[in-house]
Amino acid sequence: MAKNNNKAFTLVELLVVISIIALLMGILLPSLSVAREQGRCVVCKSNLKNIGLALRLYIDEFEGKMPSADPYPGSYGQKSQHWFMNSALMDNLDLNVGKDANGVPTGTGREHSVLTCPTHRKPMMTKDLSPDYPAQQREYALSYMANGTLGVSNKCFASGEYRHEREYKKPREAMMFCDGNGTMQTQGTVLYGGCPKSNFEYRHREKTNAVFLDQHIESLKEDDIPFCDRLDDRRFGAFWYAKR
Ligand SMILES: [Zn+2]
Repeated sequence: MAKNNNKAFTLVELLVVISIIALLMGILLPSLSVAREQGRCVVCKSNLKNIGLALRLYIDEFEGKMPSADPYPGSYGQKSQHWFMNSALMDNLDLNVGKDANGVPTGTGREHSVLTCPTHRKPMMTKDLSPDYPAQQREYALSYMANGTLGVSNKCFASGEYRHEREYKKPREAMMFCDGNGTMQTQGTVLYGGCPKSNFEYRHREKTNAVFLDQHIESLKEDDIPFCDRLDDRRFGAFWYAKR
């Protein structure tokens, strides 16, 4: 009688194979998700690099004058607006902005663009609420916020002029844009040295990406940021304002 030559796996062999696969997945999946996040972080830094370059081009175009971060009331405010609604600044970015039936730019809508961090799951849908700019009611999925002192200082209110970049004594320490959170009151703006620490978003393994006036990018932990509970930090003035 022929011997039963069954080549099928035994139950024990099957269990061994399954447990090896489970073990490999346990080892590989966390490193895959770390690699995915590293990829998203690189895209985010590239976005901020683009925004920093758009700012550089804007400053050069306006002979050293900076754009405002958000609208300010009063006479100076007549020409100030949210940075992301400033068409001269936005036109320096490759945004693929849509247009309505009348050819008026509508923004990117929910489409991700260089204004959207890939790690940001639900970017804020942002529109300028200022009635001064009815032709610029563009809507963007926005993940980044600007330093609120961008372009404006107390001197500007007196002179009616935008801040000049030469006011920034340490461009390398002056934070311009970062991974942000935002509220309807301060959309697109990180506020000032006194802003809540939660205005930043630490999306990238507990770090926020930021671009500085000299165009370099940094990943910052909350503790790296000189908030106003650390007024003795020598970087406070340079990071938030144009001070030494
Ligand atoms: Zn980001």
